[in-house]
Amino acid sequence: MAKVILKGGRKHRAEEGHPWIFANEVESIDGDYRNGDIVSVVNSKRKFVGRGYINDRSQIIVRLLTRQDEGIDGDFFRRLILRAWEYRERVVRDTTAYRLLHAEADGIPALIADRFGDYIVLQFLALGVELWRDVIVEILVELLKPRGIYERSDVPMRRLEGLEERKGELWGECPSRVEIEEGGARFWVDFREGQKTGFFLDQRENRLAAGPLAEGREVLNAFSYTGGFGVHAMRCGAKSVLNVDISEDAIALARENFALNGFREGWEVEVGNSFDALRRFDREGRRFDMVILDPPAFVKNRRSLGEAMRGYKEINLRAMRILNPGGILVTCSCSHHLKREEFRDILRSASQDAGREARLIEERGQARDHPVLLNVEETEYLKCSIIEVP
Ligand code: SAH
Repeated sequence: MAKVILKGGRKHRAEEGHPWIFANEVESIDGDYRNGDIVSVVNSKRKFVGRGYINDRSQIIVRLLTRQDEGIDGDFFRRLILRAWEYRERVVRDTTAYRLLHAEADGIPALIADRFGDYIVLQFLALGVELWRDVIVEILVELLKPRGIYERSDVPMRRLEGLEERKGELWGECPSRVEIEEGGARFWVDFREGQKTGFFLDQRENRLAAGPLAEGREVLNAFSYTGGFGVHAMRCGAKSVLNVDISEDAIALARENFALNGFREGWEVEVGNSFDALRRFDREGRRFDMVILDPPAFVKNRRSLGEAMRGYKEINLRAMRILNPGGILVTCSCSHHLKREEFRDILRSASQDAGREARLIEERGQARDHPVLLNVEETEYLKCSIIEVP
């Protein structure tokens, strides 16, 4: 097994619990390897740091799987998958869909597994884990007995690892859509063609928290995707819900989701840009009692932060302006590059410019099946603030 030797001089993040080794932290590599192989990592004093998969085409040259001097084999992955599953069984309630494996946070870097009832959707984001695909599928089949496993590795990020995008059935048979249940609400999930792995599971607990605040209110669900927050709002007695999303497919499924939950009226959908819709409502003097903002990640890296912050500020400012007195704003950001405090600063400045007071009533994050490793800041990304505008 090849040995990756870290540079001396300073303590590396990897020695303090972070699973990534960057190429520029490496002094030399002892022995032969092929990309994707398991290698050992030692510090400059030759002290063992851990073991993980190597890929010298990536800036993250090694992703650590263990800090013990142990072999990495099928049993190793089986133990981690079993642990991840048992954890979900304990902490995830009232849903047939959850994230089973949250990559680094479950000890298997670059592997995502989402469960939608009898089906599992996998995403392989690094070469090292991709080479274990068959082993992982076999373990999942044995443990969870799914009816089908589907791969959604169609993400541009894979290029950083020298990998092509790919998607398709890995095991069993996968229908074009499956029905899931979440806190009593039902949703169609199209994990073959939908965004990401088909459904934004990280927002589940926020949807459930926001729902009851919608009772008797006129709600704007901006960036609605397939209607998630909106359906929960209706179930909790919202007077009306207007859903806006730029994706026609998402809106088509949103229609079906409202119908699936038995709602014939009281809701509307609109295919369009939420920025434009917010501006239009502001100009026309249209008002709501609740606005939900759940945009996609505007910040892809720290360099684009400035522009992204202006985007977040714009939508939050408009949202505060179109809220009736006593209105509720549920506002989210899923960019990991935008820190919690920075998001709060944006909301403060939006409220000042809108000339509206903002009372933060709750600050939330990603659902429990997407745990955050305290020493791996990259695992925390979702922020969801609930604000009342008096
Ligand atoms: N809240 C949703 C998830 C939203 S994901 C849920 O709970 O399921 C973000 C959504 O924003 C995606 O559906 C995407 O199609 C949409 N989107 C991206 N840019 C947009 C824009 N400019 N205007 C409206 N929708 C947009």
